Amino acid sequence: MIADLLEALKNEGIDMAWQDFANCRGADPDLFFPERGASTRQAKSICRECTVREECLEFAIESSEKFGIWGAMSERERRKIRRERQIAVRRRKAG
Ligand code: SF4
Repeated sequence: MIADLLEALKNEGIDMAWQDFANCRGADPDLFFPERGASTRQAKSICRECTVREECLEFAIESSEKFGIWGAMSERERRKIRRERQIAVRRRKAG
């Protein structure tokens, strides 16, 4: 599933060169898109060994990816990062 999504984005002309180095290539997609309440441990373990983890995580945060494990983080963890960034931007603007 993640490979399909990445391929679709590549076809849209979005730079996804980092995906060529994804450690999840060939892994079971269900690990990265688990049912609610299922373990994410195995997917995160694969991500932690991935050389493009930062690029993957940044992509998922920037595109507000709603589902799956990206860059070793769940949607909830990514949402927390987005919120923290928004707060930091607001504080900078407030001076
Ligand atoms: S960080 Fe995880 S989901 Fe992202 S490319 Fe690497 S292995 Fe795949």
